[in-house]
Formats: sequence, C-alpha cells, structure tokens
Amino acid sequence: MSLPLQAWAEALDGTTRVAGVIGWPVRHSLSPPMQNAALAALGLNWVYVPFAVAPEQVGAAVAAIRAFDLVGLNVTIPHKPAVVPYLDELSPEAEALGGANTIVHREGRLLGYSTDGEGFLRSLREIGEEASGRRIALIGAGGSARAVALALCRAGATSLTVVNRTVAKAEALAESLAQLVPGATLAAVGLETPAAQEAVTGAEVVVDSTAVGMYPHHEVDPVVPAAWLHPGQVVCDLTYNPRQTVLLQAARQQGARTLDGTGMLIHQGALALELWSGQTAPVGVMREALLAALANRTPGG
Ligand code: NAP
Repeated sequence: MSLPLQAWAEALDGTTRVAGVIGWPVRHSLSPPMQNAALAALGLNWVYVPFAVAPEQVGAAVAAIRAFDLVGLNVTIPHKPAVVPYLDELSPEAEALGGANTIVHREGRLLGYSTDGEGFLRSLREIGEEASGRRIALIGAGGSARAVALALCRAGATSLTVVNRTVAKAEALAESLAQLVPGATLAAVGLETPAAQEAVTGAEVVVDSTAVGMYPHHEVDPVVPAAWLHPGQVVCDLTYNPRQTVLLQAARQQGARTLDGTGMLIHQGALALELWSGQTAPVGVMREALLAALANRTPGG
C-alpha cells in the first residue's frame, strides 16, 4: 500500500516505529526527506528522524536503540567508527572498514553494516558501468575513499591507484587494502605528480572522493587538470552538492561519461532501508525526494 506523504504523516499513532540518523552535526542530512518519502511509498508505519548526537553521547545514543525499540539508525560523520564498540555484530564490510553507517535492531541485537561501498557500486551499475575488469584511479584517501576502494577491489577491479594530496595517507590506504583483498593490484601516488597524471589518464574509471568542489567552495579548479580526462572514461564524483562539480563539468567537456554523488547517497540509503524492512527500496521515490530536498535547501544544489 502506498500513501500520499501528508496522509502518511497523519497516520502516525501509538504503533508507529522510529528509525533515524545520528551525526554531529546532522542538520545538513538529506536522509530524512529521502527515507520518509520511501516509508510513505512502502506504507510502513515508521518515521525517520535526525538526531544530533554529541561525540560523548554516542554510547547512550546506541543504547537508546534498545530503550526506544528503534528499527535502527543510520550513522554519519563523525560517528561511524565510534558506534562499533557498542554493536553486537558487524558485517564483513563494517568489520573491514572499522565503521558502520547502518545499525539494524533485530531481536534485541544490534548489527552494524556499511552500505557506502555497495551504494557506490549500485550507482555505477545504474548507469550501465561496472568496476570488474577496470583500471581505476581513486582520488582521496579519507573515510569515503576507504569504503569505495574496498568495494571496488572486492568487485574485481583490474587495478586501483590511490591518488592523494598527502601521499602517506594514500600509501596507508593501499597497504590496508592489500591486507583486506589479497591479490588486488594496488598503488599509491601523490596528487600533483607525473605518476598521478599517468594513473588518472590511464584509468577507465576515475573516482573523486575529496570534497574539492563542494558547496560553498564550488567555484575552484578541479582536483585534477581537465587535460588528464578523455573520452572512454567514466568520471565519478562522490560530492553531491552541487551535482555538477567542477570536475564533472571538466570531464564532460573532455568527452568523458560522468556520475555524480547523488546515486551513491540514494543507494546507500536504499540498502539501509532494505536491511531494516526486508523490502525492496523504492529507489525512484527516494531519488525524487532527495533531488527536491537538494534543490530546495541550498543554492549550490
Ligand atoms: P575526508 O575523510 O575528510 O577525506 C577528505 C579527502 O580529501 C582526503 O583524502 C584529503 O586529502 C582530500 N582533500 C581535502 N581537501 C583537498 C584539497 N584541497 N585538494 C586535494 N585533496 C583534498 O572526507 P570524506 O568523508 O571521505 O568525504 C569526502 C567527500 O565525499 C565529501 O564531499 C562528501 O560529501 C562526499 N561523500 C559522499 C557520499 C555519498 O553518498 N555520495 C558519502 C560519503 C562522502 P589529505 O589526505 O591530503 O588531507
């Protein structure tokens, strides 16, 4: 059964269950409009709310899942690693990454998952592309890079080169991926180097996981020169505000295919909803709600 959003809101009653997202801050989160639209479409008597949780309150917030019998929580920056000690079990991805973005409350147990990497893979598949058998250049070595890199390697990328401003962080990420995915072909290079140019130019898939070009600092130079990009490549940016980052604009001008960060955001949320509900997430509804919220809320959207 699908209800219009307003009717669904009016239907909340004593049996309504709660899911949500914890972060610090959390007011920027686009998950509430996206997930509530999905809950309405599925006709679930649930509501999804944002909780601003200070770092010293993370343990109490996770304990509240049991106290309030929550369906579960999404976890955003900076709490993904911090929730881990309070969980009963971790998925292989959450275990490998040392962090969870989704907590499922099932029969009194708290299960931690990381849906970011698979969310990115789904967004790539959605445009008819894949990681398997591809040479990949991943720019950035932070939290999102780690999740996406692990998923790309496990999906069978031919090779993955981590390109980062701080080369030591690229090396650390490549070394940890080598432990997690034995047999993966990995390299690490500094951002403004001939090796970076070679890696990016030679890549079939380029993924930018830095926040370079994110609103309100969206009018900057792309993280790599446009001349490094060319037709036949897929250039992906995890940043979703604005959707058309300077990098994606440059990539398009160079004749490359592009993928913006909204797909990953939608699919990591869809995977979380599927874990909580056991139902197929209404991805189209989630996309529509997310894009509307993005357009309404920020000039950069
Ligand atoms: P993070 O952990 O802080 O990592 C930031 C990375 O960007 C680091 O590798 C850093 O390099 C690099 N960087 C920062 N400023 C730079 C600059 N001026 N030039 C070159 N490199 C620079 O951040 P994150 O959590 O991974 O998030 C990164 C981006 O991904 C954000 O825009 C976020 O919104 C987006 N994201 C999107 C999704 C989605 O669902 N679409 C999910 C997660 C994140 P150093 O190591 O040298 O500092």
